[in-house]
Amino acid sequence: MEVRTMEIEVRRSACEGHGLCEQTAPEVYELDDEDYVRLRVSEIPESLQVAAAAGARVCPVAALRVRD
Ligand code: SF4
Repeated sequence: MEVRTMEIEVRRSACEGHGLCEQTAPEVYELDDEDYVRLRVSEIPESLQVAAAAGARVCPVAALRVRD
């Protein structure tokens, strides 16, 4: 069976630290010490892809983009 991979492109310079992505998908996103988003996993496993995409969608400044 083919494993679908997904990557999230993070535009750190666009992030305003609202934390909505982290609230939506804390398994995937977290804020660093400077309140910028960072990924907790570099390649998103299938079990987290729905959550990862939902977290990207809620970002109000479109700093997260799904690449699959
Ligand atoms: S929702 Fe967007 S702006 Fe807010 S922390 Fe996440 S990536 Fe940054």
